[in-house]
Amino acid sequence: MESLKYALLDRGDQLSRELADQFHKLAEARGLVRDDKAPRIVVSIGGDGTLLQAFHRYRDQVGKVGFVGVHTGHLGFYADWKVGELTELVDLMATTEPTTVSYPLLKVEIVTDGGTSAYLALNEFTLKSVEGTLVAQLNINDEPFEMFRGDGIVVSTPSGSTGYNKSVNGAIIHPYLEAMQIAEIASINNRVYRTLGSSFILPKHHHCDIVTDPEELLSVGIDHLVLQFREVRSIICSVAEDKVHFARYRPFPFWNRVRDAFIGYDENGDSGRARKRPR
Ligand code: NAP
Ligand code: MN
Repeated sequence: MESLKYALLDRGDQLSRELADQFHKLAEARGLVRDDKAPRIVVSIGGDGTLLQAFHRYRDQVGKVGFVGVHTGHLGFYADWKVGELTELVDLMATTEPTTVSYPLLKVEIVTDGGTSAYLALNEFTLKSVEGTLVAQLNINDEPFEMFRGDGIVVSTPSGSTGYNKSVNGAIIHPYLEAMQIAEIASINNRVYRTLGSSFILPKHHHCDIVTDPEELLSVGIDHLVLQFREVRSIICSVAEDKVHFARYRPFPFWNRVRDAFIGYDENGDSGRARKRPR
């Protein structure tokens, strides 16, 4: 068997760095080869934010790599391996073929007078106005849909639905569904500006165009990255063709993550309030 090539990215804090050193030693002992340029597996050590960084570092090779997340704090949505489990993880990486789990991504094309920039998001795209209230026309599949006025818009992937999207009351979507969700941040509703009010979910091959005043200075968030744009003609959001792949050396069910993160879980297998179920 050809030795497995891997890359590693850590959050940069002391614990994550120590774990990274430990990982490299264990990996070398098991015959894994470090290859930052063309890895098969990308390991992130830190939190979900670290995995977002790893994703963006390798986004040009997104179809070819499998991500593995180790968390140093709370259980993550992208990071399931715990601090004390590095030996087990490296053993599995050296001896077994992982199951690949693929999640949809969001494609964001920002059309300006100077040309079009395309981005891929693992969690979400956010749009806000730097100078004040955002005013934007939303079109779905080239038909006018609504005129938005408010703090901003969040367009999330299914796996990003547990992030920013959840804080603005969006639904949680299982990443098996190839979709994107559009949610509002504090919309103003009156006779002139009327929005749907609830978040809505679009399937693959649909697209949502967001049209703003080209004079407006826009703040664009792509996962943890924040950019500013002016002279934007439109922003086109759709489910990306490419997916992100996670290398699973053991199962990590999505609904368990949701339960453990938001409802609570104890050793007896009971979860939070569900414990007192009627008989
Ligand atoms: P951060 O400010 O450290 O992240 C905020 C929190 O979101 C962290 O606890 C992070 O987990 C968690 N998170 C990241 N992706 C998640 C996901 N898919 N599901 C559930 N929780 C998730 O910044 P960051 O670590 O660079 O993460 C950027 C993300 O933060 C954005 O993509 C956005 O989803 C989220 N965010 C949320 C709000 C909000 O809820 N009001 C505002 C801004 C950004 P870790 O601690 O494990 O990194
Ligand atoms: Mn973080």
